[in-house]
Amino acid sequence: MDSIDTTARVIRAALGYQSTKALTLARDHLSRRDWLEERPLEVYSMACFFKFSDLAKLSSGLAVKRPMEEWHVHRAVMGRTGMEKLHELHDIRLEGLFEILDRSSTFQASEASESSERSEGSEGSEGLCGGEHTCNDTSRIRHMWSIKVEHLKTTLEAGSGLLELFEVDLRGGWCEGCLVMLGRNIQWCIVQARSLPQNI
Ligand SMILES: [Zn+2]
Repeated sequence: MDSIDTTARVIRAALGYQSTKALTLARDHLSRRDWLEERPLEVYSMACFFKFSDLAKLSSGLAVKRPMEEWHVHRAVMGRTGMEKLHELHDIRLEGLFEILDRSSTFQASEASESSERSEGSEGSEGLCGGEHTCNDTSRIRHMWSIKVEHLKTTLEAGSGLLELFEVDLRGGWCEGCLVMLGRNIQWCIVQARSLPQNI
């Protein structure tokens, strides 16, 4: 079985003959790592079609990263529910990412979000998102950050882990405190992004 289409035919035949063994074999084949990575939408669609819910879940995280224009090619196979779930995952992730970026832009997000988990650090000076550092350049680095964030928002995709934030221009002659603050802010965003739903 060297193509997804062949696999699909085998699955369909196996379903027809109610052959559990053939079905299991075909499903395992469909879960191949390279197919998942290179053609996640096809794998996802077929998983939806054949009601392989574990495989649908597994492939959805990669499928959602594909451009939305491509989704519709597979609409007939993945079905309305499959499409809805993918849209749902997409929207939850994108909204979550926007929220993280919005909260990061003040360098103050730690106060709102981490207070429950980090109650032991009562003085708050080790807040993940910024901390207490201030110097003559604080407003300049915040400005630089807000430009970075606003720019990222214009190209942001649901599959992003916000690693794009690492591509920040550090040639600003920033003091150590500012760089630490910047680093913490980036780290905070990435950790938050990781906690967003990855799958349907
Ligand atoms: Zn500074």
